[in-house]
Amino acid sequence: MMKRQNTQPEICLIFPCYNEEEVLPDLLQVLHSLDLGVPMRFLFVDDGSQDDTLRILKEACLLDDRIACLSLSRNFGHQVAVGAGLKHATGDIVAVLDADLQDPPELLKKFIQKWQEGYDVVYGIRSNRKESWFLRMCYSSFYRLLDRTANIQIPKDAGDFALMDRKVVDVLRSMSEHNQFVRGLRGWIGFKQIGIKYARPARHAGKPSYNIRRLTRLALDGLLSFSSAPLRLSAWLGLGSAFLGFCYLVYALITFMSGKNLPPGWTSTVVLILFLGGIQLIVLGILGEYLGRIFDEVKGRPHYILNERAGWLSDSL
Ligand code: UDP
Ligand code: MG
Repeated sequence: MMKRQNTQPEICLIFPCYNEEEVLPDLLQVLHSLDLGVPMRFLFVDDGSQDDTLRILKEACLLDDRIACLSLSRNFGHQVAVGAGLKHATGDIVAVLDADLQDPPELLKKFIQKWQEGYDVVYGIRSNRKESWFLRMCYSSFYRLLDRTANIQIPKDAGDFALMDRKVVDVLRSMSEHNQFVRGLRGWIGFKQIGIKYARPARHAGKPSYNIRRLTRLALDGLLSFSSAPLRLSAWLGLGSAFLGFCYLVYALITFMSGKNLPPGWTSTVVLILFLGGIQLIVLGILGEYLGRIFDEVKGRPHYILNERAGWLSDSL
């Protein structure tokens, strides 16, 4: 692999923040004493927080001219906030990190080394998770399911924590998909990629804003936008149940012709109706999920709306 010549690349660190007032002072402290050996800029995206996040960020912009802040007009969700950050990031390398110090910024040193070796995307792989066993089980089955159904290779247990070369960021920026599943798109676009294992610490302070409902949405976005297997699944379910119905018909005919008394039949009818009805509803549900996503694309609305910008972004357009 070709080593890169650029020894002093500028790096831009993106932090999506939603109601992070409790953890931000500590994060800013960490960033203040952070030294990655290259010039740094920080870009915070306030994803419509209801607490003091935006005020803290604007203050930080005044104190340190490497810091900028974008604020979205409402809560658009983590993935959209990351997208907004990517859109406005400057520099030769861009990194995406959680604001709650779950993605240790010092680790970027190692990431930058890999970039210097010639990799375009360096992403973190979570080697241990500190969440409850139930969540861990959900995560792991999701990534395995995604791996089996998606049309592309998406690294397992990789979050959005990553460092990307400018050219990768430019490609990501040009993609207009709604319901973005950043880590999937990142895998989809190709280039030279490498994963680096890290132990993910527990959230430093504050509460996680991903609950089961939001995680399910994210998982669905990942599965549905990278795989049409669920659409095929419905066809297989339909075929399977039709086949069962056919078997039952044959069985009923044989019993009839062998002159035996047919069983009253009521139960089996009801069972069949329920069974087929269930499958039809599942299939409709799957179609609906895809249709909803098509609807989102067709409306062509902007992904997010900017409210304010501060710091080094304040004088750009
Ligand atoms: N986040 C965001 N918008 C949201 C939800 C979360 O920008 O609607 C940010 C949040 O501030 C944090 C990151 O996304 O920096 C990850 O969120 P969280 O820690 O809740 O998720 P987890 O670590 O549990 O995956
Ligand atoms: Mg977190």
